[in-house]
Parts: sequence; structure tokens; C-alpha cells
Amino acid sequence: MTLPGSPFLAYRGQDLFLDDVRLRDLTQQHGTPLYVYSKRAMLAALAPYQKALQGRAHLVCYAVKANSNLAVLQTFAQAGCGFDIVSEGELARVLAAGGSASKVVFSGVGKTRSEMATALKAGVKCFNVESTAELEVLSQVASGLGQTAHISLRVNPDVDAGTHPYISTGLKGNKFGVAHEEALATYKRAAALPGIHVAGIDCHIGSQITEIAPYLDALDRVLDLVESIEAAGITVHHMDLGGGLGITYTDETPPGADELIAQLLAKIDARGHGQREILFEPGRSLVGNAGVLLTEVMFLKPGSQKNFCVVDAAMNDLMRPALYEAYMGIVNTQLRTDAPATWDVVGPVCESGDWLGRDRSLTVQAGDVLAVLSAGAYGMTMSSNYNTRGRAAELMVDGATVHVIRSRETVQDLIRHDHLLPN
Ligand SMILES: *Cc1c(COP(=O)(O)O)cnc(C)c1O
Repeated sequence: MTLPGSPFLAYRGQDLFLDDVRLRDLTQQHGTPLYVYSKRAMLAALAPYQKALQGRAHLVCYAVKANSNLAVLQTFAQAGCGFDIVSEGELARVLAAGGSASKVVFSGVGKTRSEMATALKAGVKCFNVESTAELEVLSQVASGLGQTAHISLRVNPDVDAGTHPYISTGLKGNKFGVAHEEALATYKRAAALPGIHVAGIDCHIGSQITEIAPYLDALDRVLDLVESIEAAGITVHHMDLGGGLGITYTDETPPGADELIAQLLAKIDARGHGQREILFEPGRSLVGNAGVLLTEVMFLKPGSQKNFCVVDAAMNDLMRPALYEAYMGIVNTQLRTDAPATWDVVGPVCESGDWLGRDRSLTVQAGDVLAVLSAGAYGMTMSSNYNTRGRAAELMVDGATVHVIRSRETVQDLIRHDHLLPN
């Protein structure tokens, strides 16, 4: 039996396996809550991007914020990826994982001068600039260092990606990017500034997008701009079409990356832009369905209105349900035969928002290990130490081999940076 989202996650007999590893076995040695990722699933998710772009100048820049574990970054670096970063810290991770700065694009609305300087010295491929004010500061920082910053403007195409308001970024009311109407003037300003070299154009319209149409609409708007920018005598070398492709959490049916890219390339070619280097910045679609969060059932609390299944993972480990009311699949790692009941799966944190799943049909007993599915993206990276809970350990499986890629945090780790007042 295969579960939605990943062919690498399936029941063999009564037991849930990721690759060739029985998940329940892992928790005996490594404890819970426990993130487990499949290296093969990550590479399988990357393959359609690379295949669809074969034969043309391109770079797939994995969006580090989706899952920034060094072993994950190492996996993508070795597979030829570049990286989309949003902080100096993410740049340090990329370099520590063996990634190359020359394949890094630096996104984000609030880059500091220090971050700009660090990225310039490292030699990043491109800054995705999000405002005129940022452009002026970048020009000053680059000139001061005697360097040239290669830039693209993140343009806001004002299309609706049809996704949750918190993860939609391409509308006029969003904080992201330069408004379409202002883009040409801002490109002219960029071309005149010292320390700035215009390299490309960038557009990222949102996340968990499950249709091709918003991408095609945004691309048309981007190509219109490219044509007017080049008519003004400014060369646009590359086009960065962002990330945002959705995954299956429950019954979504997003297009494959190969299908999406084929349609985008067809439009690019039809409009005579086939020679340009193409960049993508996928995050979720490369890692989301490659990972699960394992959690042990501590107590069952059946009630007159609701049945609560209290597990040892909480909103601090996996924030998506609390933050976006996101649905994530939850299954038992060990199939039981008795009739299921309906449970709210909740964590131990002192917040009513601390739930992982509501009204879930599960056959479950205390001591069972549940798997929260599709937890490879925006799981560990959004985790916190709320309630003084150490972050979970992370494992990477590859076939039958298991690697610890992050140790569980201890309470000592958590209080290390606190300081008592003098007596
Ligand atoms: C978050 C982000 C991405 C990745 O988005 P996914 O939905 O995870 O693919 C790409 N580019 C930028 C600028 C981002 O902020």
C-alpha cells in the first residue's frame, strides 16, 4: 500500500517503510519526535526539473528555507543544484555543505548591509533585489568594497497564485518585489548605479501552487517587461521563474515539474526568448514529500465531544498546522486491525493551537508511533524551542542505510545562551 505523495513511503505488511527502513525501528534507537528524510525521494523530486531543462542554460536553485539541514544541502549540491537563500546564515550553510557561492541567488525584502557585504565577498551569482531602497544600499555597499553586485529585480506580476493568503506573494498588496508598473524605471535606475550590473529578472508568486495557469500568467507579464527593459538598452541575461510548485498533502493534484516547465518553455520559445538562462527556485516540491515526522502516542483522552490523541510532537516541532491550519496526513507506522475512531492529534504545548491534525480516523493505542506525512518541507526549519523543548533529531535514509544528520537538542543546548543577573 502506497501513501499519497511519495512512492518511497509504503506499508510492507503491517509496517510503514521509508525506502527500505522500517520506521518504527528508528524510534527505538533515536527517540521521538524524529524527522526522517529519504535521500532517494529528494533526488527523484529533483530529476524532472533537471530533465525538463536539459539542453538549455539553466540552474535549479533549491530554496534553502524549506529544509536547511547540511546533509540535505549537500545532497542537492552534489546533484548540481544552486541555492536560493534569504539570509547570511543560509549562505553559511550552503558553503558548509559544499555548495558553491557562484550558484547562489540571494532573495529577501530585508537584506542587511552586513549580509550584502558577506554575499559580495563570497561571490554570489545574483541578488534578487526587492525595492529601489535596497538597490541604492546595495550599490553603496558594493562600491565601497570595490565590487560589482549582479542583480535581478524581483518583479511583482500581480497575479493570484490561488493559494493560502500567507503563502501568496505575487499580488499587489504583498510586501514582496517591485510593482510591475515601477519595474522599468527601477531597471533604468539600476543600470545607472555604480557597483550594480543587471543580470536578470526574477519572479516568485507564492507557495503550494497546484495549477499551471498562474505561472503562465506571471511569465507573460515577465516577458512583457523583459521586452521593454531590453528596448531601453538594458540586457536581461537570465529569467528566474521562482519556486512555489505544490505537493500532495491530501488530495491536491499539482502538475509535475516536467509538465510545468514544458509549458513555460513553450511560451518562452514561442515569444522568442529561448536563448536566455532559466532559473527556478523550488523548495517544497523537492523535499516536502521526502520526509515524515515520527511521534509517539503518549495518552488517549476519549471525551464526550472530542477524542484527543496526545502525542510527543508539538507545534514547536511542526508549526504548519498551527500557523496555516495546514492539513498534514497522519498515519500509524503499524497498521492495526480494530475499527478506527476519530481523534484530534494534539501535542503537549500549552496552546489550543497546538494540534497536528483534527478529526482524523485512526486505529491507535498508547505507545504507537504515528507518522506525520509530507513533513520534509517547512517542518524542522520552522521549529522553535517554545516550552523549552529541544528540537527533534533528523535522520536521512538511503535505501537501507540510516544516517543521523542532526542530533537531538538537549536542555543544556537551550539554556547555554541565557545569563543570570549578578547577585
Ligand atoms: C520560499 C521561496 C521559494 C521556495 O518556495 P517553495 O514554495 O518552497 O517552492 C523560492 N523563492 C523565494 C524567493 C522564496 O521566498
